Amino acid sequence: MGAAVVPTSSGNTPRQLMLMRDFGVTAFAATPSYSINVAEVAAAEGIDFESLPLRVAFVGAEPMSQAMQQEIEERMGVRVCEQFGLSEIIGPGVASACEQQQGLHVWEDHFIPEIIDPNSGERLPDGEIGELVLTAATKEAFPVLRYRTRDRTRLVRERCDCGRTMARIVKILGRTDDMLIVRGVNVFPSQIEHALLGVEGVAPQYQIVLTTRADRQDELRVRIEAAAGHGAEPADRAALGVRAREVLHSALGLAVVVEIVVAGSLPRSEGKAIRVVDERRK
Ligand SMILES: [Zn+2]
Repeated sequence: MGAAVVPTSSGNTPRQLMLMRDFGVTAFAATPSYSINVAEVAAAEGIDFESLPLRVAFVGAEPMSQAMQQEIEERMGVRVCEQFGLSEIIGPGVASACEQQQGLHVWEDHFIPEIIDPNSGERLPDGEIGELVLTAATKEAFPVLRYRTRDRTRLVRERCDCGRTMARIVKILGRTDDMLIVRGVNVFPSQIEHALLGVEGVAPQYQIVLTTRADRQDELRVRIEAAAGHGAEPADRAALGVRAREVLHSALGLAVVVEIVVAGSLPRSEGKAIRVVDERRK
């Protein structure tokens, strides 16, 4: 398409803004939470987005509410095109919203979408909500046939006002499993449980608390009980916390905040334990 790409990864936000200005960047790709972070740093540095040639933002890899999308558009003066993809298929680029913002077009020349009933596995008619299943038609060496994404959505096949005829998925409505998405990284509570089994001095009693930090990024806090006979003194708990944090960081590929609490202090449940408390700003 003749577009030059400036790859920067995330972090060092003032430098990102400098690159946007110096290269005359017209489009950027980021997660929703990082987009807001960039907008806030720009405001703090006195950078006015109207002075930049930015036009469009490709935003994805995290759930994004309508309010979040509008906030990015208003603060940064861009049109947001939501993106959908998953590492098992290709990463970003499986589906994209167009300028009409009426669902995400699946690039059907490469990916074949279906919606199934997650319980029976039966294929559902267009328009019904179920689990998205994808087949990668052109992928080589690592074929993916009828891959169950665990994402809940529905398919729309009417021609879009933009003129494209490819099927659209509406916004992802959640998951059919317990996977959490934290700063764009997929996390299963079972991974945390498994990693904690390798940390001496902690009990397999934990609670995951998700919050939104002041910089709008997700924070993953894990509250873990010390095992009986451990962690009586604050210094012991601090040392346990350091060990658990290192183990979790390497298991999840994500920095987490660890809080070690005394044995028996986490709430016990009669039935299914409440492992996850999601207090993130929607
Ligand atoms: Zn369209």
